Amino acid sequence: SSLKNKYAQERIAPLVSKMDENSAMDEEVIKSLFEQGLMGIEIDPEYGGTGSTFFSSILVIEELAKVDPSVAVLCDIQNTLINTLFANLGTPVQKEKYLSRLSTDMVGSFCLSEAESGSDAFSLKTRAEKHKDYYIINGSKMWISNAEHAGVFLVMANVDPSNGYRGITCFIVDRDTEGLEICKKENKLGLRASSTCPLNFDNVKVPEKNILGQVGHGYKYAIGMLNEGRIGIASQMLGLAQGCFDHTIPYTRQRVQFGKRIFDFQGLQHQIAHVATQIEAARLLTYNAARLKEAGKPFIKEACMAKYFAAEVATLTTSKCIEWMGGVGFTKDYPIEKFYRDCKIGTIYEGTTNIQLSTLAKFIDKEYDH
Ligand SMILES: Cc1cc2nc3c(=O)[nH]c(=O)nc-3n(C[C@H](O)[C@H](O)[C@H](O)COP(=O)(O)OP(=O)(O)OC[C@H]3O[C@@H](n4cnc5c(N)ncnc54)[C@H](O)[C@@H]3O)c2cc1C
Repeated sequence: SSLKNKYAQERIAPLVSKMDENSAMDEEVIKSLFEQGLMGIEIDPEYGGTGSTFFSSILVIEELAKVDPSVAVLCDIQNTLINTLFANLGTPVQKEKYLSRLSTDMVGSFCLSEAESGSDAFSLKTRAEKHKDYYIINGSKMWISNAEHAGVFLVMANVDPSNGYRGITCFIVDRDTEGLEICKKENKLGLRASSTCPLNFDNVKVPEKNILGQVGHGYKYAIGMLNEGRIGIASQMLGLAQGCFDHTIPYTRQRVQFGKRIFDFQGLQHQIAHVATQIEAARLLTYNAARLKEAGKPFIKEACMAKYFAAEVATLTTSKCIEWMGGVGFTKDYPIEKFYRDCKIGTIYEGTTNIQLSTLAKFIDKEYDH
């Protein structure tokens, strides 16, 4: 973990502010993530991966988010969604073709959301029509992270709308497939270095062998992945909060007002101690969810709690850090205002805060059934 932090400090930190301003990920950052083995953390060494654990992925995401949450989400989606889907569901041929690239030089994107289906993801309209041994995909996706750099897209499309969500199927779509258009990236409040693009599918022809897993099981795969993925987002928010705190506390220990360090005022001390405790609580929720998942135990409730809580803590922490820094915290001379903008996404993607709370309520309701 401290090694990964050294890497992030040396190779990523100097580029963060420029990438935010330009709303563009530096290609060198992506290259270095691959070089460090951070894009295939759990992929088997047989396919060029690092052969490590889910928990290590969670720790790496946390360390990267301390420096840049945009870089963290690139690593997060690759490891917790894309690689896992290929590893769990891929045929030997699909694994050989894609896992060997995902671990070494190819970014993948996860394509579920559409303009009219966000929280209600399974009402998606993108259609895949079966012909002899191929499918024709038509429709559009929205909010697709890392699409600017992705070489492969995992696309949820419905092969049989009359069967409702039971028609949703996961297709592997290569970037250069005819009819796939990656549209102009969104101009966002935060997480600006991470590209977020709409996609258009205009008669995109995909061979049957590009179906990942079983026809009609896409909704199961999407739910399964997002349940795990939430632990990754919790870790991103945790790292973000810790990174922001770590930049702020040294300032409060140097800044002098009324002849004292501002850190020495009890009014600040109590707030700082409170936020430090919140961050630690988010860490324990996140690590606990990761530990349960890795042990093969039920973890969905804990993952929801971790994601919901860590996003709240990141919001509180970044807001307080700006206040503790005073005027300079409000400027781009320090990274605090960027963390403040970046944290907002934690309450939105991979299930909004409301959706986490609704899922939690379902678990609680069930627990009191008898
Ligand atoms: C930067 C960014 C990156 C993203 N990356 C990806 C990606 O890589 N792949 C992908 O597929 N998607 C991605 N998304 C999409 C993201 O997952 C959706 O934005 C999210 O699921 C919310 O959907 P929505 O935006 O349509 O909001 P809506 O679903 O319209 O929600 C709007 C509001 O209504 C509330 N709401 C909705 N339904 C309920 C309910 N039943 N009960 C209570 N409240 C409710 C929500 O909580 C929210 O407050 C990304 C989004 C962003 C902004």
